Amino acid sequence: MRYVWATGTHQGRVRDHNEDAVLPATSGASEGPLLVAVADGMGGAVAGEVASSLAIEHVGSVPAEAAEAPKERISAANNRLLEAVRENPALAGMGTTLTLGLFAADGELAVGHVGDSRAYLIRDGELEQLTTDHTVVAELVELGHLDPDAAHNHPQRHLLTRTLGLGPVEVDEYQQHLAAGDRVVMCSDGLTTMLTDGEILGFLIDQDVEGSVWTLIEAANNAGGVDNTTVAVVDVLT
Ligand code: MN
Repeated sequence: MRYVWATGTHQGRVRDHNEDAVLPATSGASEGPLLVAVADGMGGAVAGEVASSLAIEHVGSVPAEAAEAPKERISAANNRLLEAVRENPALAGMGTTLTLGLFAADGELAVGHVGDSRAYLIRDGELEQLTTDHTVVAELVELGHLDPDAAHNHPQRHLLTRTLGLGPVEVDEYQQHLAAGDRVVMCSDGLTTMLTDGEILGFLIDQDVEGSVWTLIEAANNAGGVDNTTVAVVDVLT
């Protein structure tokens, strides 16, 4: 497979610092395997930034070529956070989401996921969310107790049911076979809080990977930019 990608992160228009982190830090192209990850940290003082950057740093320290599945990579990042809290108890309570995509040379995408950052597949002009948010609201929708349209503006939509950094964590894993023309978008909730899926799809039309990343971040900021926004876009060329 031939992958091209771009990533970007922005603090938004309301927050005074950026607690999101993303891997890779720069755009590029490769035949795979390729590792892409988005983390959205939380915690008092600078702890949110520490949590997301530690998680991304740890993920980046294990080569994409290594045999570890996304689940193992995320569990290892979680252990790294727990160790950091043991070393420095002032960090207790920090946490982070982590959504990780491992794009294999044969086009197999394995996604590991904890929290409410998301992975989307765009194929034939349609957008499909590959991950399920670990939020109270998303779980109510899954159970049929809440209408999906009501979920987007629900006051408790940000309450997470799973995060890294607080203890043992269950990691969801998804498999998707990619084909030429597919596009994968990974993002923090700063994007999906400000834009609907339909709007995200609309902003991606006729944009290359770099243009997609910054068009989406700008759109989130134009819509209010209430949170940090991080976007990673991977195109499958062949
Ligand atoms: Mn966020």
